Amino acid sequence: MQHYDAPIADYAFLLDQVLEFDQVMREIGLDHVDSSLASSVLEEAGRFCALRLKPINREGDEHGACLVDGDVVTPPGFAQAWRDFCEAGWPSLSGDTAWGGQGLPFILQLWLDEMMSACNLSFGLFAGLTRGAYEAIGAHAAEELKSIYLPPMVSGQWTGAMALTESHAGTDLALLKTRAQANPDGSYAISGTKIFISSGDQDFGGNVVHLVLARLPDAPPGVKGISMFLVPKFLPDASGEFTVRNGMSVGALEKKMGIHAQPTCVMNYDEATGWLVGEPHRGLAAMFTMMNAERLMVGIQGLGIAGGAYQHAAAYAKERLQGRGEDGTPGPVAIVEHGDVRRMLLGVRSFVEAGRALAGWTALQMDRSHHHPDPAEAEKAAEFVALLTPVIKAAFSDLGFEGAVQAQQVFGGHGYIREWGMEQFVRDARIAQIYEGTNGVQAMDLVSRKLTLRGGQAVDAFFALIERDIGHADAAAPVTIAVDAALKRLRTTTAALQGASQEELGAAAVDYLRMFALVSLGWMWLRMALVSEKGDTPFHAAKLRMATWFAAKILPQTSSLAAQIAAGAAPAQVFAASEF
Ligand SMILES: Cc1cc2nc3c(=O)[nH]c(=O)nc-3n(C[C@H](O)[C@H](O)[C@H](O)COP(=O)(O)OP(=O)(O)OC[C@H]3O[C@@H](n4cnc5c(N)ncnc54)[C@H](O)[C@@H]3O)c2cc1C
Repeated sequence: MQHYDAPIADYAFLLDQVLEFDQVMREIGLDHVDSSLASSVLEEAGRFCALRLKPINREGDEHGACLVDGDVVTPPGFAQAWRDFCEAGWPSLSGDTAWGGQGLPFILQLWLDEMMSACNLSFGLFAGLTRGAYEAIGAHAAEELKSIYLPPMVSGQWTGAMALTESHAGTDLALLKTRAQANPDGSYAISGTKIFISSGDQDFGGNVVHLVLARLPDAPPGVKGISMFLVPKFLPDASGEFTVRNGMSVGALEKKMGIHAQPTCVMNYDEATGWLVGEPHRGLAAMFTMMNAERLMVGIQGLGIAGGAYQHAAAYAKERLQGRGEDGTPGPVAIVEHGDVRRMLLGVRSFVEAGRALAGWTALQMDRSHHHPDPAEAEKAAEFVALLTPVIKAAFSDLGFEGAVQAQQVFGGHGYIREWGMEQFVRDARIAQIYEGTNGVQAMDLVSRKLTLRGGQAVDAFFALIERDIGHADAAAPVTIAVDAALKRLRTTTAALQGASQEELGAAAVDYLRMFALVSLGWMWLRMALVSEKGDTPFHAAKLRMATWFAAKILPQTSSLAAQIAAGAAPAQVFAASEF
């Protein structure tokens, strides 16, 4: 059976030496949280993921979630694991203390998400959607709704789901048709069908709280006519217990490529009772609280999957004997000796370790944006999060999928058959590129909205942070030279895109997002190299070697990406639609 080693040493290195965690906590008034507390929380989280979630991952995939008499039945072990997860307090980790949350920094949450995704992506989605839903309710609902729904959601006793998509309305939510009609008591009757609803139902016990996008009768057309409603599976009975079934049901479970243990539901709402959350017709803006949380989580899913898959591939490569050594050593040698196997392993690892650092840095910006005493600093941090959200969502899920495929490739044919579990990583990773806004749409968000944040000053401030670290580094070191050159390319490309036509942006977006991500990951390698130069442990030496590998082998990709972007929209636009 596969096992999982939580990357505790890496987390401790990042907290203590790279991300200045204790200093940030002091700056934002969370002095009671220091890196030693953070490390013990992460260690405990790693133990839970490795011992409770990893062992049920394979059976979850093979058994899958089922629909029995209209109710979802999750695979063996899932319901008990969820109850244990709640008992241990994990759903409330970063939750608001006003509603029973522990109020711990978001960096711990994102790294818990990483470990959950590495061990059991399907399970992690229940937690991620519950958190996103309670954050949106906390930010936008009326106090009465908050006091009823938040405590059991923050504790995980009740779970959450996000109901946007309809068969004809995916990316373009302006097309959605689900209706909401006011009831005399102030509630609403919601009617319509949603598809692809993750965690739409469960058998863990407790309620399932859906946040549903629908239109009121007087709604203007388009996205400005969408409202958000809280629609629970169970309504309160006369004694206030939530025992009465609401008018909503699971019509079917989607059959799909991966995450088989996840109930992806077709949901029918038949005059289901719901309550308005936020302003009428402003539901999409309110839903963005949940969507932004989920976007980061989905990027982290890619990171987790790549990290989990890497561990198995590295172990296998050291044991599998095939062929002569490239230095002439008579065979068979362990395949890790072959240059191409090293290329694959280092490719995945260089993303995972820098991705973990970038996720941590971004999470600290989220903490700064919520708690920093200086509003200008808080605002600046919020802009960094806004800028990096599409980058993390799309680049991490793309690199996560590519990483899963490379790790599978290390196993040769043994990676393709089920026995070793590598094909499950590939199938599970794939969805992260699609849901929560496809990666193409994330790239459009980056180039068309995020590059122009505060007239372009937000992206400029981000580049200035990288330049500051370049300035602190040895100018002649290969990592510094590579990051500096890649950043200059990115700056030139960014300037060319700011103010470009929609057509040009559409053609450039995906390449630009990859370029942006590679430079950001390169920045993290530079920061890790800067502290590792001063260390004298094998751990530090390995970090330096990884930084050098990334600078030499991956950062040059920014040159070809810059050339692809500079080629513009014309080479694709010359085709008529009928020619496809
Ligand atoms: C397993 C699974 C779980 C899901 N979970 C949920 C959930 O919990 N809740 C929920 O509400 N939804 C969920 N979804 C839906 C998911 O978010 C959508 O599938 C996704 O947003 C894309 O919508 P679509 O499938 O309709 O594709 P379309 O919108 O039809 O897109 C098709 C293609 O066209 C491209 N495209 C579309 N518009 C543009 C544009 N303007 N510019 C450039 N390219 C464009 C897309 O990038 C894509 O490549 C889930 C989907 C799956 C498969």
